[in-house]
Amino acid sequence: MVTMGVLERAKRASGLSEPEALPYLCLGCETQFDIQYHTCPVCGKYDIRRAKWVNADGESR
Ligand SMILES: [Zn+2]
Repeated sequence: MVTMGVLERAKRASGLSEPEALPYLCLGCETQFDIQYHTCPVCGKYDIRRAKWVNADGESR
């Protein structure tokens, strides 16, 4: 149904739903978080980075 997508976009535009981009990102499983975990609760790795840094140069190391 196309109408669902349109509604979803309208909600986003008016700020009623969460934005997709969260500030932190697990490099192990690529799950995004709104807070920085010491370890990823999804895959258990220690590779939580700021999504901004990751996006800036691909790999932050
Ligand atoms: Zn992970």
